[in-house]
Amino acid sequence: MAPRNVAVMGATGSIGTSTLDVIGRHPERFRAAVLVANRDTAGLAALCERFRPDLAIVADPAMEADLARRLAAAGVRCDVASGADAVTAAAAGPLCDTVVAAIVGAAGLDSTLAAARAGKRLLLANKESIVMAGELLLEALRLGGGDLIPVDSEHNAIFQCLPGGRPELRRAGVRRLILTASGGPFRGRTRADLGTITPDQACAHPKWSMGRKISVDSATLMNKGLEVIEAHHLFAAPVDTIEVVVHPQSLVHSMVDYVDGSVLAQLGNPDMRTAIACALAYPERIEAGVAPLDLATHARLDFERPDTDTFRCLALAFAALREGGDATAVLNAANEVAVEAFLAGSLPFLGIAEVVERVLEELPAKPVVDVQTLVGRDEQARRTAREVLHRAYC
Ligand code: NAD
Ligand code: MG
Repeated sequence: MAPRNVAVMGATGSIGTSTLDVIGRHPERFRAAVLVANRDTAGLAALCERFRPDLAIVADPAMEADLARRLAAAGVRCDVASGADAVTAAAAGPLCDTVVAAIVGAAGLDSTLAAARAGKRLLLANKESIVMAGELLLEALRLGGGDLIPVDSEHNAIFQCLPGGRPELRRAGVRRLILTASGGPFRGRTRADLGTITPDQACAHPKWSMGRKISVDSATLMNKGLEVIEAHHLFAAPVDTIEVVVHPQSLVHSMVDYVDGSVLAQLGNPDMRTAIACALAYPERIEAGVAPLDLATHARLDFERPDTDTFRCLALAFAALREGGDATAVLNAANEVAVEAFLAGSLPFLGIAEVVERVLEELPAKPVVDVQTLVGRDEQARRTAREVLHRAYC
């Protein structure tokens, strides 16, 4: 059988490089046909040298000549393109049948939607796109007729614990989806402890090695909030059937509670290559380079309720999901601006939740109409977040 042609959107990132590691272990099954990065031409060129794609794209047009020069110097012959439109076109184009959506943030929305519309097998890591545009993404998937397989470890775990991937939950006898959360680096701390947290402290995750934006989201528990919204859309789960439990060892990646009292869990070492390999090869299983889980060495699995008074972002995400309409898109945009400001040193850690809450208050939810209005709303929420930041912290 010919190998599947994979487009890796966000190839130089944490998920992108883990994906390429799995692809590199199975050259007879997968080819990295398209590689996309934002601005890191050195990283992208090195990946092109190893994986020899048909097309390499850098999102920032100012970096295209630099990428072409590096590829020529390395003797790599592949097409080179740049710009957001080229990224979107490649996601829908003929060079790939599988798209790994691993761009960070709302910047991943267009290419994710394009892949869905084009009927590609969509491996979704970019949770911000489904948080922003859940209904529109699912509609695009229906129209395109392709599969979506979640890569986010919790959703991949749930996918594995459900019969046939993404069934109608009630018919499948599902009572609850239980998302596990590591609790992040500040689990057990009080608000008073969190006043002086630095970006490097927030990014030092105890269990997972990830990009900086999602690391901060994990520290605030906004990541879990985004994942609750993601689970709601992916599995058509009513908000009250989704529960979050803190599990600091990060070995149980999530669970499904059935009406007969059975709870199915997916376990494994915290390494994204398991979820990526599962999604790439589904329904088959392939080797992912992940060490076998040795439960006797770990010895314990602890569980506790999340502290939503200290980590308010999780409560804000539940509230936005309950509010409906475009509230989750507003939440996501405000969070992206706030996290960027925190990483730049211009917003304290606890200010992230404050900015998000204020923006949600200032922009009451509107119904979701189409992608254009949603993108307009995303821009409005970003502007409002910058105003709030300016008023409160400058
Ligand atoms: P990262 O910061 O390590 O990598 C981001 C990638 O996106 C880079 O390759 C970057 O060049 C690219 N990129 C950024 N902006 C772009 C743009 N405008 N156009 C094209 N490419 C762009 O991030 P990550 O940790 O790999 O996370 C990627 C996505 O996967 C996020 O949505 C995150 O929430 C999700 N996710 C990550 C993990 C993880 O373990 N890292 C787990 C679950 C979900
Ligand atoms: Mg996750």
